[in-house]
Amino acid sequence: MTSLKRLNTCDAETFTEILHGLYEHSPWIPQRAAAQRPFRTIDELKLGLQKVVTDANNDEQLGLIRAHPELAGKAAVAGELTPESTGEQAKAGLNLCTKEEFSALQELNGAYNSKFGFPFILAVKGGDGKGLSRQAIIAAFRRRLRNQAGDEQREALRQIHRIAEMRLNALLSYVPHMGRDIIEWAEEIGAMSEDEQGLTCTYMTQTHRRTANQLAKWMREAGMHAHIDAVGNVVGRYLSTDPQARTLLTGSHYDTVRNGGKYDGRQGILTAIAVVKHLHETGETLPFHLEVIGFAEEEGVRFKSTFLGSSAVIGQFDPKLLDLRDRDGQLLRDVLTDADHDVNAIADIARDPADLLGFVEVHIEQGPVLLERGLPVGVVTSIAGSKRYLVELKGVASHAGTTPMPMRKDAAAAAAEIILFVEQRCALDQDSALVGTVGQLQVPNGSTNVIPGACTLSLDIRAANNAARDAAVDDILAHIEKVCEKRHITVSIEQTVAADCAPCAPRLMEQLAAAVERNGIPAFQLASGAGHDAMLMSRVTDVAMLFTRCGNGGISHNPLETMTDDDADLSARILLSFLRNYT
Ligand SMILES: [Zn+2]
Repeated sequence: MTSLKRLNTCDAETFTEILHGLYEHSPWIPQRAAAQRPFRTIDELKLGLQKVVTDANNDEQLGLIRAHPELAGKAAVAGELTPESTGEQAKAGLNLCTKEEFSALQELNGAYNSKFGFPFILAVKGGDGKGLSRQAIIAAFRRRLRNQAGDEQREALRQIHRIAEMRLNALLSYVPHMGRDIIEWAEEIGAMSEDEQGLTCTYMTQTHRRTANQLAKWMREAGMHAHIDAVGNVVGRYLSTDPQARTLLTGSHYDTVRNGGKYDGRQGILTAIAVVKHLHETGETLPFHLEVIGFAEEEGVRFKSTFLGSSAVIGQFDPKLLDLRDRDGQLLRDVLTDADHDVNAIADIARDPADLLGFVEVHIEQGPVLLERGLPVGVVTSIAGSKRYLVELKGVASHAGTTPMPMRKDAAAAAAEIILFVEQRCALDQDSALVGTVGQLQVPNGSTNVIPGACTLSLDIRAANNAARDAAVDDILAHIEKVCEKRHITVSIEQTVAADCAPCAPRLMEQLAAAVERNGIPAFQLASGAGHDAMLMSRVTDVAMLFTRCGNGGISHNPLETMTDDDADLSARILLSFLRNYT
């Protein structure tokens, strides 16, 4: 049987011979990777092979892509595939296509080939290794046909790396057990939804409560004491043998946006459950109590108020929120009472900060940074806080035909200048992960033949630190004044949100980075542009976050959000290693 040890100690020729089937007809990849040995872990070996491809020239990369067969293509019909490809395509049921599906695939193959000049490549075994459905394959095919050429070439290479990863796992008889559990559990609770299609799990609905009960059940099975608290947080405790020990918190949220992804939030809870299950099975305890929290509400969908779960844990749940109503007019207070929760007990949820060692959250990245860098995980440096504004521009709505260009007071043209400035200014400070967005833009009562007399736009500016964000805000607000003065536009600016950035604690970041490196992965650091429960938790304790790569171009808050079992497994092993070595 092949082992990592054998691969590290054999001669380069044998190494290439053993691994030649990982990358289709491309022995140069293991050949060049041999020089990087020894590899400490399978994950490091995977990255080593991927690095060879990344460092190769464009012709070599294209050669690798073109060495792959078309999906259910001519080669498959003629039985000319490599044994690896035959097995994978058969597993996806591509040999069982209906006539319509087969001809759809042929047509897509043709269109794809003529647009990109290489065959469509998809790891048809999917994120969980069980195989994508033919419908999912055809949908992915159609989606990717719309990509730009450069993006698609990189996506093809990522799919090839995923295929190689699964082939390597099989070769080394390596099974990502914790990752498989996490993906399977995410599927199971992902199937509970308020909508028939897609995943919607908003606060205190029947779906939401079923999900909570399921999480509590898994926590108990994993060896935790579990309960659901007064706001619906699912809390599992894995006790230390030292009753005096303090508590380390981990977890994330289980509510979703409408038609959301299966991993946003939930991955952080399920990862912790998988890790505790592993500890429990091996009879291992920790020198501190480990508390896994499934936060009931983070997204703010149903009652338009975010972080209901974590605000209660830090003792900052505002009782006024109980008077909020959902879109059907139901009071939050009534919804909780109907679900047998005691609203008077919410204040008791608050943790004593003196008992806390910190909070560590594992979360899907929800963006393309790790994916583009070819890294499975990253250590978060800071959670960006946004400043948001509503900008109202007032010009003069005069006749589009009779008003000469120099005599106009066009509010939309002013808005256009402002938007471009936001884009240019925010591009200047990528070290601070500065981003600026105008997501809403309206010309109220606009008409084809009238110069826009008014224009409203939203402004959202975020960065990894308050100073960088505020410097950009100052420049943008000054520029708005300048543009409006020049164009004789009246402007009013209202601040709607001002949230502070939440820097991660260096001591926890360092320990998390060390755990990443122990697994053979470089500890890449990145800021979080999205808000997370860790942001609230940072008000009472030290926080750290581990991001896991998000597939499909980094899309999230969308049913296309995806993650592989290998990445989920690696994230779990990193959390496990972090806990075991925590000081
Ligand atoms: Zn989330």
